[in-house]
Amino acid sequence: MLAPMLAALWGPGAAAAASKHTLLAVFAHPDDEITVAPMLARYAAEGHDVYLVTATSGQAGDANTDIPAGPELGAAREKEVRCSARALGIHEPFLFQLQDGRMAEPASIEAMAKRLREVINRVKPDVIVTFGPDGVSGHPDHRMVGAVATEVFQWRERLEWRPKKLYYVALPASYMPPDPAQVGLSRQSAAVSDEFITTVVDAEAGLEKTWRAMQCHVTQWAPVERMRRMFEVRKKIIGGNVYLRLALASEGSPAEREGDVFTGLD
Ligand SMILES: [Zn+2]
Repeated sequence: MLAPMLAALWGPGAAAAASKHTLLAVFAHPDDEITVAPMLARYAAEGHDVYLVTATSGQAGDANTDIPAGPELGAAREKEVRCSARALGIHEPFLFQLQDGRMAEPASIEAMAKRLREVINRVKPDVIVTFGPDGVSGHPDHRMVGAVATEVFQWRERLEWRPKKLYYVALPASYMPPDPAQVGLSRQSAAVSDEFITTVVDAEAGLEKTWRAMQCHVTQWAPVERMRRMFEVRKKIIGGNVYLRLALASEGSPAEREGDVFTGLD
């Protein structure tokens, strides 16, 4: 009875505020956030607190830019991910500034886990979204960042604040083209069988902001025609949907496929 009584005391505005949640996305490189960008934009627009951790500065991502791999590229990409976060309407990202391509080194793993615990205790997320064991594109940094986020989430005694649900980004097998490279995906891209997808977030409303966020990442996807092509491919394959697999939950486990990561939480 307590909740309705309090809602009556505070009025409808307070009831709406009570359903506000916090989402933390944890990824490896500046531009990885684009994987779930429509969802980040949608939840931020709905008044939820949306945060992003970017573990490395993407210092090795020189395939599409004249800037040589190294600190200068890292600095440029940090600017790009800040620009992307602004475009999506989420909070300023936490940049751990670890070394691109070296997430599997023990020192990186340790630093990542420590910093992530600090961020979790500070922003108090209800839900964390990260890479699953496949890393979507197969990149070793993706796999490792997802593994560290899982390790931090599952050892709850070490956390002052305990998030309730951990999700992995998933590319459904039914959407995977025979040759991923034909649609601009990495050849190592990995899918998840549709039967294991627990959550489909309709984030059509966040697509326009996603396009704006993509345009921030000029060192990765320029020229703009190439970027637009990638955006159109994404729209064609999965539209505004973001597909996830619930990995761990202390509460709010859905009985059937859900459409919202905050389902079942107070
Ligand atoms: Zn990446």
